[in-house]
Amino acid sequence: MPNAAAAPPLLTKRAAGALYGRLAEADPAPKTELDYSSPYTLLVAVVLSAQATDKGVNKATKGLFAAADTPAKMVALGEAGIAAHVKTIGLWRNKAKNVLALSQTLLDEHGGEVPTERAALERLPGVGRKTASVVLAEAFGQAAIAVDTHVFRVANRTGLANAKTPDAVEDQLMEITPKRYLHGAHHWLILHGRYTCVARTPKCPECPIRTICLYPDKTPAKGAAKPAAARGGKTQAGGASKAATKARAKAAAAGGAKVKNK
Ligand code: SF4
Repeated sequence: MPNAAAAPPLLTKRAAGALYGRLAEADPAPKTELDYSSPYTLLVAVVLSAQATDKGVNKATKGLFAAADTPAKMVALGEAGIAAHVKTIGLWRNKAKNVLALSQTLLDEHGGEVPTERAALERLPGVGRKTASVVLAEAFGQAAIAVDTHVFRVANRTGLANAKTPDAVEDQLMEITPKRYLHGAHHWLILHGRYTCVARTPKCPECPIRTICLYPDKTPAKGAAKPAAARGGKTQAGGASKAATKARAKAAAAGGAKVKNK
């Protein structure tokens, strides 16, 4: 009897390696789409990017960083000055406050530098685990995989993870991702989620990892029959239960609502 509460199956480490290999082949040097010129400007850009598009953030930071690209200059610019540049971005009032407060904290406690330790980063105003992970990986080359709504969805759909919270998904990704792919993993998964494995109708027919992905409800090619897994057949995991495949679809679909954006 299949266990209704069983977690969806995970990819093997070997399959996970093959999955990253294909994403790496398609995009060998992935990087953030946010514009920045230093760890500090990256940190500010990531704080501003919560619930906003990278394009919108880049538009705002062009003027902001021209006026202030260091904590000292940002403090001198003041909350009203920061707000004037970021008004086009969602939650701008709060974000302007946080950018000012984190800049002051960097001056007071870190000699004006962005700390390289996760705990110190997460103590900065407006900085949560996701923001800290992006900065650690992108600015300092440390092994960290920031889990936003896209990464959460892609990880749960493909079988790289089968967890219900972003923190648990990050832990699973850190475990299953081969060392050589750790630095690029966040970018590959986020870009894959933005442009191919989109929330509503994933572009499975053109997806480079479709033969590895365990998602049971793949979008069929035009005119094709529904995939076997979606009809209740076996997946590549070697016989996932119907309940488990349903659970995967549910977990991945629910992802967006659960992921904090800081
Ligand atoms: S096959 Fe479909 S569900 Fe799987 S990763 Fe690709 S786009 Fe996403």
